[in-house]
Amino acid sequence: MNANYDVLIIGTGISGLTCAMKLAENKDLKIALVTRGKKPEESNTYWAQGGIIYIQDDDKLIGNDIQSASRDTSFDKAIEVLVNESSPILREILFEKAKTEFTKNDDGSLAFTQEAAHSFPRILFNADATGKAIEISLLNYLSKFSNVTIYTKATAIDLIAPSHHGTTIHQRYEENKIVGAYIFDQEKKNVMKVLAKKTVLATGGLNALYLHHTNGLGARGDGHAMVRRAGGLVTNMEFIQFHPTTFFGPVAQKRFLISEAVRGEGAKLVNPKGERFMERYHKDLELAPRDVVSDAIMTEMIENKWDSVFLDITHESEKHLKHRFPTIFNHLIEHKINMSTDLIPVVPAAHYTCGGVKVDLLGRTTIKHLYAVGEVACTGLHGENRLASTSLLEGLTFGYKAAVDIQEQIKECKLYKNEKIKDWVTSKEEIDLSLINQDKMIIKHTMWNYVGIKKSRNRLLRAQAMMRELNIQIQKFYRNAELRDELIGLRNSVEVTQMIIHAALHA
Ligand SMILES: Cc1cc2nc3c(=O)[nH]c(=O)nc-3n(C[C@H](O)[C@H](O)[C@H](O)COP(=O)(O)OP(=O)(O)OC[C@H]3O[C@@H](n4cnc5c(N)ncnc54)[C@H](O)[C@@H]3O)c2cc1C
Repeated sequence: MNANYDVLIIGTGISGLTCAMKLAENKDLKIALVTRGKKPEESNTYWAQGGIIYIQDDDKLIGNDIQSASRDTSFDKAIEVLVNESSPILREILFEKAKTEFTKNDDGSLAFTQEAAHSFPRILFNADATGKAIEISLLNYLSKFSNVTIYTKATAIDLIAPSHHGTTIHQRYEENKIVGAYIFDQEKKNVMKVLAKKTVLATGGLNALYLHHTNGLGARGDGHAMVRRAGGLVTNMEFIQFHPTTFFGPVAQKRFLISEAVRGEGAKLVNPKGERFMERYHKDLELAPRDVVSDAIMTEMIENKWDSVFLDITHESEKHLKHRFPTIFNHLIEHKINMSTDLIPVVPAAHYTCGGVKVDLLGRTTIKHLYAVGEVACTGLHGENRLASTSLLEGLTFGYKAAVDIQEQIKECKLYKNEKIKDWVTSKEEIDLSLINQDKMIIKHTMWNYVGIKKSRNRLLRAQAMMRELNIQIQKFYRNAELRDELIGLRNSVEVTQMIIHAALHA
């Protein structure tokens, strides 16, 4: 099946939805949103707990806070965009249009919370389910627009570049540009050729490549891999942020997050001996930047052979904790932990991708007609370590700015001729799921043990050799096998591991 749109947006988290909302206001534009999820809300955005920063006019410290969390590696101009432009966008999109609910004080004013490395409370939240409130309100607002079509269970396989996917040799001489994407329909098991004047990648991060992570299972770097195959640049790929406090429960791999807001509201980190160990690592104790806290926890665990450390918020009442952190409270109760009386066992896990597809401050990638927004993109805002709760705002701001730029540019664009792009050729060999699962586990263990919080040249070299060999095997297998979402993800994952390892080795 083929389809034509003005704009194709891949990904339905905060960045893709914001971009779609802003574009949809122009009724002349036909927009497609695709997601590999079964439902449009399946995204990391949905799971965001802590909140979204709201930069008020009198906030003179935000730039410093972002830079000091990243140890002065953030891009000043990206910070300037956030400081100067994000608040009107947040008010327009979340307050006025989507009417997102945020927690209020008793007097009806907006409540603000604090997280690590913030100078003062500047984070809007909705209890401990802020992402869900944002995602659902954006989707509700978007449902009013008849010029937007949402495709679920639809996995983007590859971006379409005429110089590579053209039907004639002459097209190889055209400049590199993106004119849409091949999209795999998971139910019908066929591949759609979706052509668009502009394509926006909003596919999120890659943290599910690690054994222990907080992300949805689809955070496997599909966007990064597609861009590299299309000849675009990625940058800062070695900067993976590990969240210090995820619940050390019986379920491995996707770990339940214990939001930083819990530490923001006074929780202390203690080791199994009951010592408040952050005193030995940083003057800001539990509110030190994330990478410092994660590193400190790993040091404690490795040196003492402990399985986890603990969060202690037992100074707060059950009534307060149930009200302030209902999702976390209930999750822990299911595991027989009452956070008002018991310590919470926690370990770090891969959480956020600070680097990504290199973009300018309008979300434009290094390839013509292709934009990237949200966690898949690298604006440089986060440098090597993100300040908590800045990513939702980055997705919102740059999703919006990309839409504004597309509206200006699109008048000059024409759709590429469908008949001049090859149809997807499908392979038929039946897939062996155990191969896919085993390869996935090799990737996750290797990334966790050799490319994790504590890296060394030897570990990285070992990982590089292993992933190179695995890549050869997976590419062979991919060429002949019947397509499915897991296989698309596996091929992308192994390619992305090599980008991370290469970046880490050359840092
Ligand atoms: C547990 C948790 C808590 C967090 N808490 C906070 C917080 O409090 N504050 C904050 O600022 N940030 C937080 N973050 C980070 C933040 O949620 C993400 O950075 C942000 O939501 C990313 O938004 P996005 O639009 O870039 O992508 P996502 O929300 O991740 O959405 C990605 C979309 O791309 C789709 N997709 C991916 N690959 C393909 C493909 N090949 N084909 C089709 N579709 C595809 C997915 O299905 C999904 O729709 C948290 C993250 C997690 C995991």
